[in-house]
Amino acid sequence: MSRKTYQEWQSLAETARLPVDLFIDGKSRAASDGARFTKRNPATNAVLGEVAQAGQSDIDAAVRAARAAYEDRRWRGKSLAERRDILLRLTALIEANTDRLALAESLDMGKPVEEAAAIDIPGAAAVWRFYAEAIDKVNGEVAPTDTGNLAIVTREPLGVVGAIVPWNFPFDMAAWKCAPALAAGNSVVLKPSERSPFTALILAELAREAGLPDGVLNIVTGFGHQAGKALALHDDVDCLAFTGSTRTGRALMGYSGQSNLKQVWLELGGKSPNLIFADADLDKAAELAAMAIFFNAGQICSANSRLLVEKSVAEAFTARLVEQAAGYQPGDPLNPVSRMGALVDTAHLTQVLGHVETAKASASLVCGGQAADLPGAFMQPTIFTGMKADAALLRDEVFGPVLAVVPFETEEEAVRLANDSVYGLAASVWTQDVSRALRVAAALRVGTVSVNTVDALSPQTPFGGVRQSGFGRDLSLHALEKFSALKTTWIKYS
Ligand code: NAD
Repeated sequence: MSRKTYQEWQSLAETARLPVDLFIDGKSRAASDGARFTKRNPATNAVLGEVAQAGQSDIDAAVRAARAAYEDRRWRGKSLAERRDILLRLTALIEANTDRLALAESLDMGKPVEEAAAIDIPGAAAVWRFYAEAIDKVNGEVAPTDTGNLAIVTREPLGVVGAIVPWNFPFDMAAWKCAPALAAGNSVVLKPSERSPFTALILAELAREAGLPDGVLNIVTGFGHQAGKALALHDDVDCLAFTGSTRTGRALMGYSGQSNLKQVWLELGGKSPNLIFADADLDKAAELAAMAIFFNAGQICSANSRLLVEKSVAEAFTARLVEQAAGYQPGDPLNPVSRMGALVDTAHLTQVLGHVETAKASASLVCGGQAADLPGAFMQPTIFTGMKADAALLRDEVFGPVLAVVPFETEEEAVRLANDSVYGLAASVWTQDVSRALRVAAALRVGTVSVNTVDALSPQTPFGGVRQSGFGRDLSLHALEKFSALKTTWIKYS
């Protein structure tokens, strides 16, 4: 449901204040060498700001601030109630600033502003609330021991967490890392993507207003190979929490090995399958299958980019998909009627078009297949069919609104095709047969299976992958585990 008119969003965009400086030790400041990079709006190519470009000395300063805050216990030493209340105040401030945050996100990376306001920002607030409320509700353990012994198992924060996040859901990804890391008592240095720096900087302002002590949450904007690498190699960072590409995930494992063996948690790419059996509610399945690849212009790690459909209904189902795709023609992200916005930038559009051109050589184009005729990085919703099992389109993550449709004849074949990927993030299964749903769900090598829906997730349920989609889980109480270490205290008594 639309909350503001096109004109209202346009006039808010004209006066939007987007922060451009690093946030270290509670203060906004330029990079120490004054370096900046130009951030443009992918929908218009207009310059949004000259953003501070952190280098080694800025990363050192941010880690120093985070370490000092950790050591003097200004955050973890507060009472449970104080910490809970500060994070709940931050949640309330996020909710009160929904329009500002949604607009910043939309201008920054091209997503429809109404979607950001209805989904991304409330989603992040829900995550902050969940971890705020968890602070005084997670118990330790007493391990079984022989008489005369008491073994207490507690969880302790790790120290300084470096969080490196991507641009597709910038504010949500920041929440997924920072909220559990802070709830567990750590200090954080967050590096947002250079393609979407603004909402992380707004988050820091709101956290300060909520009462989070200086130095506990620091934001370093800048490039991956520079600021990101310096953070990942830093000897005083205890843990790296990463969401992004599998390529960068590999590099981070290496940086940890080359430095202090910091823990590394990776949420990486995917090529998630959507399995449609002939007995499914095909109207609903087509509607949500389209959403699963065209929402956020397909820039979703768990996008259902491979659609496996039972042969007897494949043709009719593909026709329904094409009808659904027509509803996702891209438009101005500030216009509330736009269901698809711009891709994150023209470099990414070029990359997506490259995948599409390769696919055209060996597959049948069903719809789309080109950039949209708009100024900015807009792409048509695109569907291919008829590709070979080893086609690049079935293997490589495109990270755009591009769907590959593959028919299958048997359940065994569907499962084999679905598992034929180096990735293992998510999958969807559509069938009315509960036994089949459970059988197939058990056979799929992925982190999340959605049955008769797509991309099911909540703050209460773990999210993450297997194989080259990474390891560790975001969301749920399990995420607290990666930001804390178990400590055993063993007491001998007589
Ligand atoms: P990316 O790997 O290029 O960048 C992610 C972050 O890593 C950015 O902040 C970037 O600056 C930083 N970075 C890049 N190179 C680095 C280096 N050498 N050292 C340290 N940091 C570095 O990914 P992206 O293009 O921003 O995001 C898209 C990818 O993210 C896709 O592969 C997508 O599947 C994945 N993703 C995964 C999840 C998940 O939860 N599994 C969620 C969203 C996105």
